Amino acid sequence: MHQGVFKAHSGTQIAGIVSRAAAPIVVDVALHVVTTATKAADITQKMADDQFAALSKAYAASNVQFNRIATTFTVNDAWAVGAGSDATAMKTALRNGTYRTLNVYFMSDLTGSILGTCSLPSDIGPGTPAPSTYIGDGCMIQANTMPGGNIYGFNQGMTTVHEVGHWMGLLHTFEGYSCTGNGDFVSDTPMQSTSTDGCPSKLAKDSCPQSSGVDPIHNYMDYSDDACYTGFTPGQNKRMAKMWAAYRTGR
Ligand code: ZN
Ligand code: CA
Repeated sequence: MHQGVFKAHSGTQIAGIVSRAAAPIVVDVALHVVTTATKAADITQKMADDQFAALSKAYAASNVQFNRIATTFTVNDAWAVGAGSDATAMKTALRNGTYRTLNVYFMSDLTGSILGTCSLPSDIGPGTPAPSTYIGDGCMIQANTMPGGNIYGFNQGMTTVHEVGHWMGLLHTFEGYSCTGNGDFVSDTPMQSTSTDGCPSKLAKDSCPQSSGVDPIHNYMDYSDDACYTGFTPGQNKRMAKMWAAYRTGR
């Protein structure tokens, strides 16, 4: 690709300055499917492939690209639950790359009856971190949230989209559960004091009527069901880019 100010037609000319689309953030990602022996056949390569496609599609508008470097399948009854030290043992055995490498563990029996969890980028201190300090970094996701999984309303792969938002540094749109304060530290997501169930469509949900905007129920960082999700805001895209530059790139 050519660089240079003379190809004005390839950018937008504003007062003599050519503004180009920013280079995409490229995130190496390793997917790890971990199942119990009983459920080993339930979680397929196709589900992992479709999950990767859903993730890539959801982040395209944010100028974030994913480069899949591995897809692993492991049968281990304890790791598939990941309670306590089992999660550490699993990650120690399976984790790929460095602090800028996204590792997602899809577990058939994820502990705590949650759909998923991720670490935030700021969870470790400054400098070039030693692997021992970030072994816990990454996402643990209920495997049946992948496309084709068996969790009704949550089987289009959007749990991973939401969780990776955390890994990229985003908080919930209802962070703080309050109509005052910093909320999610993003200015273009309306204040929201309650998380959203399903996809309330009859009357717009508005948990902070004194603040401008109704609840961003279609935002990936709310708790709405998969079909309700449509995207991130420009402010969230900016926060992800800032977090990437501050915490993960080059580390
Ligand atoms: Zn969340
Ligand atoms: Ca906000």
